[in-house]
Amino acid sequence: MTTTITRQIVHIDEALCTGCGLCVSPCAEGAIVIENGKAKVVREELCDGAGFCLGVCPTGALTIKTRETVPFDHEAAEEIVAEKLKTYIPQACYVCGTDEDHAPLLPVRTQGNSTWVCTRCLPSLIHG
Ligand code: SF4
Repeated sequence: MTTTITRQIVHIDEALCTGCGLCVSPCAEGAIVIENGKAKVVREELCDGAGFCLGVCPTGALTIKTRETVPFDHEAAEEIVAEKLKTYIPQACYVCGTDEDHAPLLPVRTQGNSTWVCTRCLPSLIHG
């Protein structure tokens, strides 16, 4: 019997999801995949509910819910993160092009697009 607990986990509103795939790469643990044109949390034990995927969704399809599910599996998630690191392609700041190996990146919405901005360029976006 699988033990379940009540905790936070990503919820995907299929009616709002366009299947663009932008939420897949921010999920370091690989919990989200695109199936039949929609994002899905295919392995709930890999979703830690941190919500790094939320900011990149252009339609607001992603939210965090508190509900009963399987516990987060740290060991399995670490294995997947280590595997992904072998082949990852770093995201880059849309303003200056600095990639995430050289500055932290944050998800932003601008002019109808979801993209990334580095912490160096963020102040100029805020203050002009
Ligand atoms: S970013 Fe939003 S719209 Fe795009 S696949 Fe993910 S949930 Fe769907």
